[in-house]
Amino acid sequence: MLKAELIERAARFRSAGDDPSRHLADCPALVLNADYTPLSYYPLSVWSWQTAIKAVFLERVDIVASYEREVHSPSWSMQLPSVIALRDFVRPSEFPAFTRFNLFLRDKFTCQYCGSTQHLTFDHVVPRRLGGRTCWENIAAACSPCNLKKGGRTPRQAGMRLIEEPIRPTTWQLQDRGRAFPPNYLHETWRDWLYWDVELEA
Ligand SMILES: [Zn+2]
Repeated sequence: MLKAELIERAARFRSAGDDPSRHLADCPALVLNADYTPLSYYPLSVWSWQTAIKAVFLERVDIVASYEREVHSPSWSMQLPSVIALRDFVRPSEFPAFTRFNLFLRDKFTCQYCGSTQHLTFDHVVPRRLGGRTCWENIAAACSPCNLKKGGRTPRQAGMRLIEEPIRPTTWQLQDRGRAFPPNYLHETWRDWLYWDVELEA
């Protein structure tokens, strides 16, 4: 899609119904890359209104959509940006960070042995005492009961089968998983940038 089309498409959100008395702390800006995809999904790229406005004045970003909420000074006033896009493209890293959240996300927040979503913890597939490392390929989400049952054994020794072999996911794979787990806060102007393919199906 051409950038001009994207901006036009975004423009219809600018007058979207919104509360002009919205608290400033509730006005974060969704940050898009120069290709109008979110700069990152996990964590979702969101800036405070102060950071967003600073970037606007430094001409590092374009405003794609705004809140009704305005800020004033004696000499100017502006609507707070709700979606901004970087002018310079930032190349996303191919692989996401090895964090607890990202690992749970890869495993869809389910125990990789029984499918439970309760009492999640981490399991060394090959136990540390057998030389198992703490890395993407050897850590799986597991519920406490399964973790306890497996103990210091390999899945084969314990007679437990993994639902999916743990892999090191690419950023793209993780983002794809992330669509099933939307962030807590979503302003209406963000939806089209985060879930536009979903909306087309609806
Ligand atoms: Zn389990």
